Amino acid sequence: MKDVRVVKINIGAPTRTQSELRCESARLWNRLVKLHKYCRTRHWQWPSKGDLEKHFKGRFALHSQSVQALIQKFCANIDATRTKRKEGDKQARYPWRDQKKFQIVMWKGGAVKRQGNRLRLSCGTGRKPLVVKVPTNLPLGKIAAVELGFRELRITISNEIDKPLSAGSNMVAADVGVIHLAVMTDGVVSEAIVGRGLRSLVQGKNRSLAMLQERLSKTQKGSRRNRKLRKTKTRLLARFHQRVHNLLHHAANKMIHFCVEREAGTLFVGDIAEISRHARVKKKGSRRANQMNSGNPLGILYNYLEYKGKLNGVTLKKDSEAYTTQTCPLCSHRHKPSGRIYKCKNEQCSFVGIRDNVGATNFLNKQYHDGRIMAGAMLPPSQVKYHRPVPMRRNGVDRLTGGTLLDTSLKSALDTSVSGSNEPSVLVSVACSRISLL
Ligand SMILES: [Zn+2]
Repeated sequence: MKDVRVVKINIGAPTRTQSELRCESARLWNRLVKLHKYCRTRHWQWPSKGDLEKHFKGRFALHSQSVQALIQKFCANIDATRTKRKEGDKQARYPWRDQKKFQIVMWKGGAVKRQGNRLRLSCGTGRKPLVVKVPTNLPLGKIAAVELGFRELRITISNEIDKPLSAGSNMVAADVGVIHLAVMTDGVVSEAIVGRGLRSLVQGKNRSLAMLQERLSKTQKGSRRNRKLRKTKTRLLARFHQRVHNLLHHAANKMIHFCVEREAGTLFVGDIAEISRHARVKKKGSRRANQMNSGNPLGILYNYLEYKGKLNGVTLKKDSEAYTTQTCPLCSHRHKPSGRIYKCKNEQCSFVGIRDNVGATNFLNKQYHDGRIMAGAMLPPSQVKYHRPVPMRRNGVDRLTGGTLLDTSLKSALDTSVSGSNEPSVLVSVACSRISLL
């Protein structure tokens, strides 16, 4: 099995050599765009990749394979646009920008040499190679490709690894959401990843962005103020993306780790794409809830889960989460819960549990019983371990805590020792009021 990963490295302000290379790459790109325009307006046939490669060989101060890679990228772009236009998308536009100043430079594996913490990127015979410093903790493996962009180096590293043994025959179901990014259970143990940290990041970004946008609207286009503000905006968004991706990596690692620990070879997650598409078409949900859902980058989390799972022998499966949070696991009475607590409305039953924990358990129950939630077959585990993201003050990177074990059964809810934590405090008050009624 192959493990291919792309590592992005911030290399700081571009050096002169880097700029020259990116300029040269742009020169080739502009030539290609102009050539394509010329052929297209005359209804000439677009030359093949091989012809182009032959034609442009040795005309640019780049490694021969870098030239080929850019031509291939351009041709792929043309092909994709052509297919789109054939399928009726008339908005699809062929590459048209022919005054580019910079373009990314690509190297194939053969032109890259790794020497300690430096990469030597060949620029063709007779020219000095580009040497870039890379972090010492860059993953080992075969470097398949390198891309040089503005302040950024993207390195594709591929490793041949043994196919992992399946983590086991058990199943784990995860209820994903906003307050709890994920609650996972295998029917015996539950673990939750608190999503408030992620939500606060999204909210903070939206707030700062709105403020910046307002200030931007008062400036004149092209002015110094305008330029400075736009720079701030770019920096803000870049920082936001870094933090979100970091948190999602931590969350995905934790989730896969849980599966391996519980000897589960399958991880079920809800098909979230379905839900958000529904909401948009039907104009359902409040603006607040929609912003919350659309800002929640679950698609990225699923991508991470998929590839991290593959490396650990865990298969990711998506299934509909319908009614899993609404059904009582004890008597299968159905009602829509409000708040974080599920309280069964059936008078004979009066089951109480944490909503997301109930959701995850029912979801798992469903997987074991052909898509039906079997009443009483599986009850939510009474203890949930909470992992919450905390920012590390020293370097500003967020990490997940090792987890706090919280007993959520009714008896322990009365125990004041857990009330120090804010997570199921709601449950404590609910439970107390329930007891006082008895
Ligand atoms: Zn019930």
